Amino acid sequence: MKHSRYPEIKGLDIALFKEQLVYIKKHYNVISAYDLMDAIKSNSTSDLPPQSLLLTFDDGYIDHFTDVFPVLDREKLSGCFFPPAKCILESQVLDVNKIHFILACVPDKSVLVNYIYQSLDENRSLYHLESSEFYWQKCGVPSRYDTAEVMFVKYMLQRELLEKLRYVITNELFKKFVSNDEKAFSKELYSSIDQISCLQRNGMYIGSHGFDHYWLNSISEDDQRKEIDLSLEFLKKIGSDPFRWIMCYPYGEYNESLLTILKERNCSVGLTTKVGVADLNSDNPLTLPRLDTNDLPKDSKLEPNEWTIKVKSG
Ligand SMILES: [Zn+2]
Repeated sequence: MKHSRYPEIKGLDIALFKEQLVYIKKHYNVISAYDLMDAIKSNSTSDLPPQSLLLTFDDGYIDHFTDVFPVLDREKLSGCFFPPAKCILESQVLDVNKIHFILACVPDKSVLVNYIYQSLDENRSLYHLESSEFYWQKCGVPSRYDTAEVMFVKYMLQRELLEKLRYVITNELFKKFVSNDEKAFSKELYSSIDQISCLQRNGMYIGSHGFDHYWLNSISEDDQRKEIDLSLEFLKKIGSDPFRWIMCYPYGEYNESLLTILKERNCSVGLTTKVGVADLNSDNPLTLPRLDTNDLPKDSKLEPNEWTIKVKSG
């Protein structure tokens, strides 16, 4: 969803969401989390209607409660929501969100690149860092959507530097350019625990999106287990079944040891960010692909696009 105070933040306007929902209702049958889990458990996908579609919403944003929920409720549709437990319980802001807002608040991205260079200089000996030029060559690579400078900021602060240093620099930039009051900012950005419980009580599904929103493939097995167990405690707290549940991988990342832990914990379904239409007859239920909101039309009058046709023809 779009935060209009931060026009650079990518999100879907509620009017477009409603329009996309009309398209979805026209070409698909929206199923609930339990329809999907039941079909997988009994191994009979024939129980599901043709053109089945599951609606998923990641990261627990407050707009999911204020904007999405009333629409789904009115349409009698069930959606699946995946909030990162720590943000909801401890009023923190995810680093990935901090980085988005930092980028959105500073129009001239070279300011941020220079700020990171300066931090690298200050911390070079303590953290045994490479030269700034080395990091620029490695991380300042433009992508399909982002310039070299934006990619540099994202990659350095999300992956390249050690977690401790990433955290320090991200926090400094967040304080300097976005907000001095992380708790207040978090409360504006994410749903409260009461709102999440309310979704749960009213026919929406709440699943795990981890506790700390880590890249789960880059932490130890012990830490993976902690992440999963803390997120299951959260599900229990808000009334969602922790013994039969859906995992939505932060950043879509997982590995073999994580899949083993999920099986031990009775996880029924795992959702990745690999773009595609799930085929329950051949896909591993713990690593299902998904479509992004941008993969389907946001105009109900448009003809079915390639993804919709793909399902129709089977
Ligand atoms: Zn996420």
